[in-house]
Amino acid sequence: MPTDTKEQGKVILKLLVKAHSDAPTTYLNHNNAFEMLISTLLSAHTTDASVNKVTPELFSKYPGPREMAKAEIDDLIPIIRTVGTYNRKSEYIKKASEILVERYNGEVPKTIDELIVLPGVSRKTSNVVLSVVFGINEGVVVDTHIGRVTQRLGLTEQTKPDKIEKDLMEMLPRDKWYEYARLAGAHGRRICDAKKPKCAVCTLNHLCPSAVL
Ligand code: SF4
Repeated sequence: MPTDTKEQGKVILKLLVKAHSDAPTTYLNHNNAFEMLISTLLSAHTTDASVNKVTPELFSKYPGPREMAKAEIDDLIPIIRTVGTYNRKSEYIKKASEILVERYNGEVPKTIDELIVLPGVSRKTSNVVLSVVFGINEGVVVDTHIGRVTQRLGLTEQTKPDKIEKDLMEMLPRDKWYEYARLAGAHGRRICDAKKPKCAVCTLNHLCPSAVL
């Protein structure tokens, strides 16, 4: 393993590209920035697959922020119930939609500072929307898979997502921030499982300090 962390990041990124070049940009189904924002918000503490099950009905009834802002909470809850914490999430998506209408003429803003103040929108959600929809790298997406892979590969000693993100931002060139997130996310889902990492077949095992072989 090269000692220089930037060099280390470069090597790991190259191997991740080789292993997961087919990784999707996102696992959340969406047709526009609004749908991506709401889907990412709903995905907190649940799986993308479970969000994809509820969004067809949600967006067919409330296709944009203007419709969602006028929704009754009691009508939203049964639609999103299966994604968990539905009381809070239904309030978030209604309130966030109201703000999009009032402040941004129904458009999704394009900066972290504007996104992060929307109800229920985390830094991760902001980064996902900016990177996936607008191609803007303002930060690095760190979800549970990306955080785990980054830690196991020894690229950070941090445990909190915002601190892991800071290390990644220092280590990787800005134009590679989302590529790393996409590939490390795929690696976490496909190989570096939380409970049973498949170290024996992992293409990074020769340089991974956490490899169990
Ligand atoms: S060697 Fe094991 S722990 Fe390291 S990245 Fe690969 S699967 Fe994860």
